[in-house]
Amino acid sequence: MQPLASESTPPRPAAHWLKSKGALGREIEALDWAKTAFGPLATWPEALRFAVNFTMGAGAATAVIWGPEYRMLYNDRYREILGAKHPRSLGSRAPEIFPEVWEELRPLFEQAYRGEAVLIEDMALMLDRGGVSAPAYFSGSYSPIYHDNGEVAGFIATVVETTKRIALEKARAQEFDTILSAIADFAYSFDREGRFVYMNKALLDLWGLPREEAVGKNFYELKHPDELAARLHKQIETVFVTKTQVRDETPFLSPTGVEGYYEYIFSPVFGADGSVMSVAGSTREISARKRMERELQDVQTRMEAALSAGAIGTWSFDVKKNVVVADRILARFFGISEEEARGGPMERYVSAIHPEDRERVSARIAQALEDGQNYEVEYRVVGTDGRLRWLVARGSVQRDGNGEAVSLPGMALDVTERKKLENQIRATITDLEAAKAELERQAAALEETVAERTARLRETVTELEAFSYSISHDLRGPLRVMQSFAQALREDCGAELSDVGQDYIRRIVAAAARMDRVIQDVLVFSRIARTDLALEPIALEEFVPSLLEGYPAFHEAKADIAIEGHLPTVMANAAALTQCLSNLIGNATKFVAPGVRPQVVISGRVENGRAFVAVRDNGIGIPASGHESIFGVFSRLASGYEGTGIGLAIVRKAVERMGGAIHVESEVGRGSTFTFELAAATPA
Ligand code: ADP
Repeated sequence: MQPLASESTPPRPAAHWLKSKGALGREIEALDWAKTAFGPLATWPEALRFAVNFTMGAGAATAVIWGPEYRMLYNDRYREILGAKHPRSLGSRAPEIFPEVWEELRPLFEQAYRGEAVLIEDMALMLDRGGVSAPAYFSGSYSPIYHDNGEVAGFIATVVETTKRIALEKARAQEFDTILSAIADFAYSFDREGRFVYMNKALLDLWGLPREEAVGKNFYELKHPDELAARLHKQIETVFVTKTQVRDETPFLSPTGVEGYYEYIFSPVFGADGSVMSVAGSTREISARKRMERELQDVQTRMEAALSAGAIGTWSFDVKKNVVVADRILARFFGISEEEARGGPMERYVSAIHPEDRERVSARIAQALEDGQNYEVEYRVVGTDGRLRWLVARGSVQRDGNGEAVSLPGMALDVTERKKLENQIRATITDLEAAKAELERQAAALEETVAERTARLRETVTELEAFSYSISHDLRGPLRVMQSFAQALREDCGAELSDVGQDYIRRIVAAAARMDRVIQDVLVFSRIARTDLALEPIALEEFVPSLLEGYPAFHEAKADIAIEGHLPTVMANAAALTQCLSNLIGNATKFVAPGVRPQVVISGRVENGRAFVAVRDNGIGIPASGHESIFGVFSRLASGYEGTGIGLAIVRKAVERMGGAIHVESEVGRGSTFTFELAAATPA
């Protein structure tokens, strides 16, 4: 029951007033505003009576809007909507009651006054109800009322204020948005046309758009590639039609330049009538997963390639159940049937291992399970085909949340060929080492022998040299006696001797003299061979001229002896060097063709710390066959020239004793060049 809205009017049952024009009628009549607005009660047309009666009896906020002036009368529930506008609104004209929102209300009032029913749903109005003007929402309906003649008399407005509900809905929506925007996945919804109704922050960030610009747009308008947009719209349509979820995934490059792979689900949102109201979507970035899937695929492909090559077998050991599952290849390695390989006890595998390796492998597996380390071990097995194989097995222990070993998956590689090769190499190395040791032993023995023999030889040589020295020395005594008796014979008995006798004596004297020269040369040779030669720097630049000066024999030869360029300083023994140079120069002036004037050139140079001294002549030359033999004792090639055949042997011995060497370059008839080499003395 609703009283007529008035501060002073106590509630009255409307029905009472309707039946008679009793108490309530009189009260209304007594109200000045009612009389002013609607005239005396007696004059009220039936429609107005009905409207007022209806309004008073209505449970909802209800008002009568009467006549072309839109004068208002309302019940107590309606007072709540008016707020401070009551009580002055009673009987007042609507444009005066609602000046602040009249622009919005007028078309609706006019529509109702034309006799059309008006339906309002959550209409927003900035009502000024005293105090702050805040947006308020209203739902309701305007129902025209007619006079008996069919003219529109006014209308009854039934109104519900939905501000609270709307505020609650907004808060809910805000709450949802806050929740959905706190997640990294994309959350959104579409209407029937595939336009975005909602999207969370993550999605807006991906697009780089503010919400106002994205709401209400479809995938084409949001600049998705045509092909993708077409597919998505088709899937949204499918959800509306089939009322079931659609799941799919796609790569996507966002306008902000983010590249990713996404998985999405479109779900139907059902209305109260069971039809699909909208489609809700969620999208998750799965780039990392995709990448891993690809990598896994890649690894798998490679694994399969390796496995199909037959060199690798795989297994997995379920620790708790003590069951090993192996592939075909591993089964073959271990001599296990394919049936057994689908699940058999570990012992079955261990027993296939070579007895010598078995214990080691078992211990290694136990240790891996114990300490969780990766497992790697090499061992031999005998396969189904009866072949002995070397395997390298690797596995890694998998543990559960409590750290307990659950499984030991792994693989085994057939390394038999490698092992064979290793063994061969090892054997070869052993052989080589033995051979090397033998060689070293032989070398050591040889060295010992050589050292022994050298020592013995040196002893012999020393003895021989001492022997030849003493013989030579001893020979000179009798030779002198012979010489002096021959001399005495010529002086004392010369007159008595015939010419023949005289000639014999001359021959005896000459032979004795030649023999004396030979003996002297032998003595020089053996002295040079035996004595230690102390070396000292000798400047040939001074040494050679003074040598030439001191030997008149060179001048007598009527020879030209020249020094070419600068002569080096050498490490030598003065006496030995004198022997060398005088012998070489002597030969150079001696072995010339008759009638030829000897031309001798002495030159020198230094190379890499060695001094080379050359004596060149224009003599008869030496055939290649004699280039080595002429350095031997008593070796003579040219006849018709005086000599003992010991000179060059002395030169070689002397040069060698001074740490050097000598050789000759010569051709018959083209002269000879003897070059000896000694250590060059570093200039002080
Ligand atoms: P000898 O001079 O006493 O014969 P050597 O030992 O000095 O003995 O020389 C050995 C031989 O080498 C000589 O007999 C000679 O045939 C040859 N010979 C040495 N020097 C020359 C040279 N400058 N030109 C040609 N032949 C030479």
